[in-house]
Amino acid sequence: MIDQPYEYRHRELVEPDWRRLPGWAEVTEEEWSSAQWQRSHCVKNIRQLRQVVGAGLADRFYADLERDQAERATMSMLVPPQMINTMAPLLSPADPGFTEAFYADPVRRYMIPVFSDRHPEWPSHPESSRDSLHEAEMWAVEGLTHRYPTKVLAELLPTCPQYCGHCTRMDLVGNPTPLVDKHKFELGRDDRLAAMLDYLRATPGVRDVVVSGGDVANLPWPRLESFVAGLLEVDTVRDIRLATKALMALPQYWLTDEVRAGMERLATTAIKRDVSIAIHTHVNSAQSVTPLVAKATKAMLATGIRDVRNQGVLLRGTNDKTEQLLDLCFALLDDAKIMPYYFYMCDMIPNSEHWRLSLAEAQRLQHDIMGYLPGFATPRFICDVPYVGKRWVHQVARYDHELGISYWTKNYRTGVEADDPLALDREYEYYDPIYLLPEAGQEFWRARSRRQLPLATV
Ligand code: SF4
Repeated sequence: MIDQPYEYRHRELVEPDWRRLPGWAEVTEEEWSSAQWQRSHCVKNIRQLRQVVGAGLADRFYADLERDQAERATMSMLVPPQMINTMAPLLSPADPGFTEAFYADPVRRYMIPVFSDRHPEWPSHPESSRDSLHEAEMWAVEGLTHRYPTKVLAELLPTCPQYCGHCTRMDLVGNPTPLVDKHKFELGRDDRLAAMLDYLRATPGVRDVVVSGGDVANLPWPRLESFVAGLLEVDTVRDIRLATKALMALPQYWLTDEVRAGMERLATTAIKRDVSIAIHTHVNSAQSVTPLVAKATKAMLATGIRDVRNQGVLLRGTNDKTEQLLDLCFALLDDAKIMPYYFYMCDMIPNSEHWRLSLAEAQRLQHDIMGYLPGFATPRFICDVPYVGKRWVHQVARYDHELGISYWTKNYRTGVEADDPLALDREYEYYDPIYLLPEAGQEFWRARSRRQLPLATV
């Protein structure tokens, strides 16, 4: 047996026992399996977290969380029981060390961020911004981002059944926080969705539609089904991808009779019309892949859709180790039948520095996972470069390691560059977290922040 940096073992998926949490000690299997019960028992505030977890979680954690919500959070709190139950899954709150395990937990780190998680000097990068990918600037009609030549992103709604602390769409998605007011759609939902379909009918070059939000699991099923049925009637649409983290966070929803039957109707029509429907989900940690998640995924595959794929986000403290990423990929692939597809670098939204990895770290992780997974299931590590789009992390054109600035090129125009003759010659920048830079690089950014100078003049 050769000693390898990563040792593969098939691991059985586990549903942790929710009855270990004092607030859910009496919850029955039937209640737990109900999507309605899960939705109505989501944890939305500190008082509800206390009711569920109880005094086993030290007061200092609740104080740390309260400070974060007042001073740093860009997303409000919303965590379904299914996700809470996967945090510190091996301990009950009465066990010694529960608070430390909860603090260190990979899922807690991004779903329930606390003040002490954030970087004290550089909570935000000076180049960070709301809507850091400029999606709204590229709306062809409200909520429909046309950034690539052949594909569009349809943001159907601004809510999800769960709110992730690092959400890239923090500008639009979720409830306001003390720090962040949310952008509001101007058009009513039905008018917006109708305008999207009109645009797609009039734009035959688009063959691929990512149906997203928010999370499509928050749209009443009949409305989602009618929108997707409308897409299936657009002759030129060949791929439809439904984006839902809830497949992992609220698998109970995807197991309801209404959704299974509706998805089967859509899949049947799609097969007749030679269109592929896939679900894209968002799982960041192996412990989130439970038997219920596997069951929901298989139920969806059984309807006749083409695939279920995972788009995770690289997050420090959650999945920044090779072993964590490979454990996750094998958990997805072996028993849940979810295809590992992408890992994105965390986008440059405010207060995300403690989560973000440098480009060099992402390149190393991509290197280190190669060769363990089948080629078709080896995820690509992606930097979503503002005004460029998704690039593999090794596609960087130039990289200044001292200042932490990477430079990228592009090979197509977005709508906002239609009249820009230099769009395809220009280099576009992306930034590493400053606290990871050598001292000279950190000093550069401190001086720049003090003087508020534009980059070119420092
Ligand atoms: S599920 Fe997606 S859209 Fe919703 S909060 Fe999480 S990252 Fe944002």
